[in-house]
Amino acid sequence: MTTTHDTGPDPRPALVAEDLVVEYPAGHGRTVHAVSGVGLEVAAGETLGILGESGCGKSSVGRSLIQLPPPGSGTVRLGTTTLTGLAPEELRRARARIQLITQDPVSALNPRRKVKDLVWEGPSIWGNGGDTRDRDTRIDTALRDVGLDPQTVRDRRPHELSGGQCQRVCVARALLLEPEVLICDEPVSSLDVSVQAQILNLLETTVRRRGLSMVFIAHDVSVVKNVSDRVMVMYLGKVCEVLPSDGLPHEAAHPYTRLLLASLPEVQLGTTGPPGTTDAPDDAPVHTAEPPSPLDPPSGCRFRTRCPLATGRCADEEPVPREIRPGHRVACHHAEPRRNRP
Ligand code: SF4
Repeated sequence: MTTTHDTGPDPRPALVAEDLVVEYPAGHGRTVHAVSGVGLEVAAGETLGILGESGCGKSSVGRSLIQLPPPGSGTVRLGTTTLTGLAPEELRRARARIQLITQDPVSALNPRRKVKDLVWEGPSIWGNGGDTRDRDTRIDTALRDVGLDPQTVRDRRPHELSGGQCQRVCVARALLLEPEVLICDEPVSSLDVSVQAQILNLLETTVRRRGLSMVFIAHDVSVVKNVSDRVMVMYLGKVCEVLPSDGLPHEAAHPYTRLLLASLPEVQLGTTGPPGTTDAPDDAPVHTAEPPSPLDPPSGCRFRTRCPLATGRCADEEPVPREIRPGHRVACHHAEPRRNRP
């Protein structure tokens, strides 16, 4: 995704999370370590992509950002408001400023309600509805803004809409609250391929036009790269690497990120190289072992059981994220900056 303004994103952070920990009880005294000490920062007008395999904790991070549920420990700041620790009523009001778009739009909508009522759920709950004429005008505007014809859909129920139309209703519902940040958790993965591009385009256009910040969570490398300004890669509850999305194909330095890239056909990364070349790293590790269980993550570096570069140090010492280029951080003892291809 290109920058949101001619002058680039506003550098002031819209959203900051520090040292998030999310754990779930798994019975018999065991604990799922879903998120272990994750931090992130999203500037105003910026889109941060969170990338990783299923079970890496990326959705748990997204939900803890919006405090549904709050993290076990760590802090989340939305602008100058610290969400963690707010009283329930204050948190409920603050949530209007940070909205969640989920993977399954059909399940996110009450099947018994009409579209016009679904879109108006937020203002009716938060009590900023205005009179009836104002309400109808705002609903119709919100529906038009997401590419829906109000006359056609406003009196329909979710089962009368396609999956893509339901996701547009979810976006309209979120936007009516005029949020500062959108958290999009796999927003297109349940949709037909033909519809995915339309919804991605809608999200990109919306955040650019309104100057919103977005956290875009997905397992699809090419989708995350194309939508985001920066990409944060997660593995087994930890952050591996953070870098500008433009640098993802050639500059990714963490062995896990390179493993993800190596699994992609070149066309998915939008390669511009000559025929026969690939944007994926040519010396990327190829390793197919299954990820370990988050019930009992490995000592030291959590990727070490799948990493072909692992050494004894990797088992003994957890790698601390370090900056290898401006804006590019890697949590690996042995990663070095990679050459920057044209
Ligand atoms: S710290 Fe070691 S095991 Fe972890 S990614 Fe780097 S080389 Fe591989």
